[in-house]
Amino acid sequence: MKRPISIKIGPHVVPVTYVKTMDEAGQYMATPNPSIQINDRIKDGGLVLTLWHETCHAGLDLYGIDFDKPPDEERVVRFMETVLPQLIRENKIFRDWI
Ligand SMILES: [Zn+2]
Repeated sequence: MKRPISIKIGPHVVPVTYVKTMDEAGQYMATPNPSIQINDRIKDGGLVLTLWHETCHAGLDLYGIDFDKPPDEERVVRFMETVLPQLIRENKIFRDWI
């Protein structure tokens, strides 16, 4: 699988780097510039899911959606990560719209 070096979110191009020395599967960093880091050991489906998860974090940040409590952000990201793809996959009207 070819690993992307950036993800386009609206007009933003967020660079993606692959890091050998990280404990988490991935992380989004808002500063100094928006970027996504993915654990170099994550492959295939895990890579796509991790990239999608961090892309959801990036999208919230880039569109000014801020949370006082990090667990709230994780709950919203989990919704975006699981429910949105399912809605699009299982409802033709949304696939046609996209
Ligand atoms: Zn997260």
